Amino acid sequence: ALPLAESLTRLGTESAFEVLARARELEAQGRSIVHMEIGEPDFDTPPHVRRAAAEALEAGHTHYVPSPGIRELREAIAAYVRHTRGVPVDPAEVVVTPGGKPIIFYTILATVNPGDEVIYPDPGFPIYESCVRYVGGVPVPIPLREERDFRFDVEELRARLSPRTRLVILNSPGNPTGGALSAEDVRAIADMVRGRPVWVLSDEIYSRLSYGGPVPSILSEPGMKDQTVLLDGFSKTYAMTGWRLGWGVMPVHLAEAVTRLVINSVSCTAAFVQWAGIAALTGPQDSVERMREEFRRRRDAIVAGLNDIPGVTCRVPGGAFYVFPNVRAFGMPSRELARYLLDEAGVAVLAGTAFGPSGEGYLRLSYATSMANIEEALRRMRSALARLP
Ligand code: PLP
Repeated sequence: ALPLAESLTRLGTESAFEVLARARELEAQGRSIVHMEIGEPDFDTPPHVRRAAAEALEAGHTHYVPSPGIRELREAIAAYVRHTRGVPVDPAEVVVTPGGKPIIFYTILATVNPGDEVIYPDPGFPIYESCVRYVGGVPVPIPLREERDFRFDVEELRARLSPRTRLVILNSPGNPTGGALSAEDVRAIADMVRGRPVWVLSDEIYSRLSYGGPVPSILSEPGMKDQTVLLDGFSKTYAMTGWRLGWGVMPVHLAEAVTRLVINSVSCTAAFVQWAGIAALTGPQDSVERMREEFRRRRDAIVAGLNDIPGVTCRVPGGAFYVFPNVRAFGMPSRELARYLLDEAGVAVLAGTAFGPSGEGYLRLSYATSMANIEEALRRMRSALARLP
């Protein structure tokens, strides 16, 4: 085979997709697998959103559109952010992308030079470290600790800030732990970075999946708009993972740079999908509330069920749709334990270490699946774990 670019050796992946592939293989052999590995709502996209897309298709919204997004959607997003984060936002500060994920890649490409340090949560969404390494940045993970409900310690952030820090990545509520920053955390972080030549990427893709009221955003802190990129989107909030629709809010000069990256990669986001996004943001929000209440019910069930399994302890996560149980008692690397549960119990879960070294001793289970699946997974785990020495 012909050689590939050397830079690719620095690009990581998301092991959820690898575990899914292995699980599908087992299913092809006739095995029954309960899927707890993939982080996507099992609900259908709300009907009025689907209808808006169909109408947009019929109306001929099937062509190229402006790279940073159509004006109507950028205006709707600006209004939504004004409403949810309490800061004035101009549509020129909004960039629409195919999913929220590209905002991570584009922000890192646009702000990080080789040798620059980037601080991000560990365990955290693996794409952060992957993109940082890819551009030659220096990864500076910050450990999230179970004793603190997986909110990071702002003093640990202070200790890691250096003259070479270019970017700090926050994710609240967070993947994979479900932990969320408190208002005091957010204020302390803002006080620490404000006025420094440090960007903040605040990944708030789970902002509407918070079970203890709205989560604070660093964008709302005085003066932080000039150095913050807010990432949010439609995948998790409106059960729209497959539509690929997300957005970033950022200072205009960065929005222009990110738009250039959009032009150089995907040109624009699908036009009729953007019209569906307008319907999602401006239409009735009752389905969001309904999904959140159902997720809360499942969270409570899975946390209780896990804590009932000898050797497993699990905190109650404040947001997102993941639990991150402690399985140290089994004395096995998380990776091996995850593999054991897939092969022996037919339950697909992720090793905590798929999200960074601090995830050792934990598993990640997504509870974005039916209550029946959750109960079956718990039954299978309980009996397979009881067979371990
Ligand atoms: N950020 C986090 C923390 C995520 O968990 C995800 C999806 O799993 C994303 C961003 C990206 O979501 P999407 O690209 O589907 O909007």
